[in-house]
Amino acid sequence: MVGIPPSHPRYLSLLLRERIVEGYKRGIVVLEGLIAHGRGEAFDYILGEKTHSFAEEAMRAAVALMLLSRNPVISVNGNTAALVPGDIVRLAEAVGAKLEVNLFYRTRQREEAIARVLKEHGAREVLGVGSDASATIPELHSERRRVSPRGILVADTVLVPLEDGDRTEALRRMGKNVIAIDLNPFSRTAQMASITIVDNVVRAVPRMVEMAEELRGKDRGELERIVSSYDNRRVLGEAIRMIRERLERLSEKGVFLEV
Ligand code: ATP
Repeated sequence: MVGIPPSHPRYLSLLLRERIVEGYKRGIVVLEGLIAHGRGEAFDYILGEKTHSFAEEAMRAAVALMLLSRNPVISVNGNTAALVPGDIVRLAEAVGAKLEVNLFYRTRQREEAIARVLKEHGAREVLGVGSDASATIPELHSERRRVSPRGILVADTVLVPLEDGDRTEALRRMGKNVIAIDLNPFSRTAQMASITIVDNVVRAVPRMVEMAEELRGKDRGELERIVSSYDNRRVLGEAIRMIRERLERLSEKGVFLEV
């Protein structure tokens, strides 16, 4: 990374910013995506930029659910393609899910740029590009309503990293399981999803690939037990409690870096 040594305390965070900016220059990320990334950074800062046990628990249930699903689909937007293109392709392979481009700000060029990046990272098929996005999700007014009739339209489970609340709600109304990855446990997406992974996509997606490799060998009964014992309200509550406790400790000490 230009001019920033790996020993810099914010190196990783700066590296991610650079990936997002690079994605913008390549026509993958839109300006609004930069704002969304900034909001994610703020929550990650508060969470201590690490994966907590509540996120691990949500990831395990999410992977088990995808392995049990008949038609799991991973919905990919610009920020996800810029941040974790290789890991998202590996996750799709590991759980047997399809990959579909789905964009709030949809243009043909952007769809194709995102599909190209995924293919460069080994994806065999990418849905939701051009005339393939010919079906619509009812009651949704943004460009995100356009989906593939072979993908999200017929999916039983959709993984939506970095989603907007409206579409999560619309997918739930269609009876689908929705798995969200969102650093903000207060967002409508986080609140509406069936399973919410409160973690950064750059940590969550590779961890989910590892889990998929481990869980793939288990029988359906065991996977079903993982899913049925999962409670998203409780897990979201734990994420919010973690934020409160961290902030309480910080406010008592009046310093951030030692906590
Ligand atoms: P909602 O409609 O769900 O209330 P919003 O309007 O707050 O969402 P958007 O701007 O559509 O959110 O999407 C950005 C969301 O993605 C934010 O909640 C942000 O915290 C989260 N986010 C951004 N970057 C990351 C990341 N790298 N990993 C996980 N979550 C992220």
